[in-house]
Amino acid sequence: MRVVAWMVVWACAGANGATLCDIGRRQSPIDIRPGTTARQALPPLNFDYHAAPLKLADDGHTVRVRFGRGSELRIGKERYGLQQFHFHTPGGDRIAGEEFPMAVHLLHKSASGQLLAVVVLFRLGKENPLLASLLPLIPARADGDHSPMGVTVEARSLLPSGRGYFRYPGSLTAPPCTEGVEWVVLKQPLELSPAQLARYRQRFADNARAVQPLHGRVVLESP
Ligand SMILES: [Zn+2]
Repeated sequence: MRVVAWMVVWACAGANGATLCDIGRRQSPIDIRPGTTARQALPPLNFDYHAAPLKLADDGHTVRVRFGRGSELRIGKERYGLQQFHFHTPGGDRIAGEEFPMAVHLLHKSASGQLLAVVVLFRLGKENPLLASLLPLIPARADGDHSPMGVTVEARSLLPSGRGYFRYPGSLTAPPCTEGVEWVVLKQPLELSPAQLARYRQRFADNARAVQPLHGRVVLESP
């Protein structure tokens, strides 16, 4: 029994006990620097998001809003259903070295199981309307999903008007850091107020992963 357990650990962790989080070469987040990007006529992002009943949870790491079927992102012929969004502070992915105080990760999955994360970054500025309605509803404890009666959420309001984006092959940002996740980082940030950032950070301070090496990856950039 002990031998079997050891072999399982070895098979997924490598001889030194290193995990994909340590030795992976397509990890997220990254710093998107000039000189590592390639401009291309990438297909447009067609967000078909609809209002949905709010289902949110404090998962002990962040606040997570889950979706059933009904909201999707189409890129070319590919369709990705919106599964959930959650927030990080600081923002994780950087652009030309700039660290953003917050990001939202909108996680999608295609029918074939392909994961795709859309990253929207935030700078300090005006109050964000969606965060204004969401922050007071964050559950007091990590105790599963909450569905406040009659409250809906519009994920569309987490999208900037500009649809320019970067795209790179990345990973989950928490163990097991699974690779093969498509990352789409929107170029135009949104704003949140300093008070909103402080309120979020009271509950979930520094829950972003540090930037990871590119290891030769090329970041595609839409016009
Ligand atoms: Zn995330």
